[in-house]
Amino acid sequence: MERIYNFSAGPAVLPREVLEQARDELVNWQGCGMSVMEMSHRGKEFSGIAAEAEADFRELLAVPANYRILFMQGGAIAQNAIIPMNLLGQKQTADYVVTGIWSEKSQKEARRYTTVNIAATAEASGHTTVPPMADWTLSTDPAYLFTCTNETIGGVEYPFVPDLAQIGRAEVSVVADMSSHILSRQIDVSKYGLIFGGAQKNIGPAGLTFVIVRDDLLGYAMPHCPSAFDYRVVADNQSMYNTPATYSLYIAGLVFRWLKEQGGVAAMEQRNIVKAKWLYDALDQDGFYTTSVDPACRSRMNVPFFLKDERLNDTFLTEAKAAGLVQLKGHKSVGGMRASIYNAMPAEGVQALVRFLHDFSRRHG
Ligand SMILES: *Cc1c(COP(=O)(O)O)cnc(C)c1O
Repeated sequence: MERIYNFSAGPAVLPREVLEQARDELVNWQGCGMSVMEMSHRGKEFSGIAAEAEADFRELLAVPANYRILFMQGGAIAQNAIIPMNLLGQKQTADYVVTGIWSEKSQKEARRYTTVNIAATAEASGHTTVPPMADWTLSTDPAYLFTCTNETIGGVEYPFVPDLAQIGRAEVSVVADMSSHILSRQIDVSKYGLIFGGAQKNIGPAGLTFVIVRDDLLGYAMPHCPSAFDYRVVADNQSMYNTPATYSLYIAGLVFRWLKEQGGVAAMEQRNIVKAKWLYDALDQDGFYTTSVDPACRSRMNVPFFLKDERLNDTFLTEAKAAGLVQLKGHKSVGGMRASIYNAMPAEGVQALVRFLHDFSRRHG
């Protein structure tokens, strides 16, 4: 069977070239006589794979030298606890900006460890926008300010950098959950204290969690923080304090190399702008569909939309599947449809979806 276009929010589509290379190397990696899955994580072969993956990730995002890249496990949800356990130090409060389901979950988890101040929330809008920084109310001395810069479920993406210097609070470190838009656009890492996410949206297979953290934030873990989740311990052991998700890291490394061959993050960003524009234009112009996110905050990666006549939802999904377009059903908390169009979604996939949107509305409108 030819590959279908998979619009899943995650685990998500991977580049065909990466899957083919992994297939070719599956049983015998580069003539060493074994699979990457069978290698010791401390052996020469895997050490090289891990070092190259980290170096390429660093290069792609131009991560400054005073930041460490950690590969951990537990996903972004585990980080919701690991972050306060590591960053609170002597502070009594952490600030959260709530823009949807993921940042809401994050602030809830943090309450198990500290006092949470909601610096801003977009709840009144039904989480369809990002409150402007001028409206954020930070606490006096927070350990950090937490953001989710792309809400995967709601499809809300920050249209600005949460640079607290602009509101006179440069001393507060910004933490960002970038699970679903890391590597989709250029970012200035130096504006953040910590960036994290699960790999299974825009990087590779599930099981791998990335953390990019500024040096000076290491070393403050709570006494009860598990050693495997203590950033200082993980950093001092080059992410090998315990066995990392070796195969997921290997695939992530192949994706990083693929991204470099594609022209890097700047080139991907240009393509992502174009792909998202095709899709939003089709939704806006057709008259058969609606979207609810503030146009200024529309995510380039996750595009939720609704059929005006929701009785057609099942027919839409059935016909889409028959046309080779799958995983378009919206998250249960939002309803409707959602198309995730990550880096690895080819332009042809988005074009096929746009054709299907018009075709479906013509036949059922
Ligand atoms: C998917 C997702 C998560 C959850 O990630 P897990 O790896 O399942 O823990 C958290 N935050 C965002 C923004 C996500 O997209």
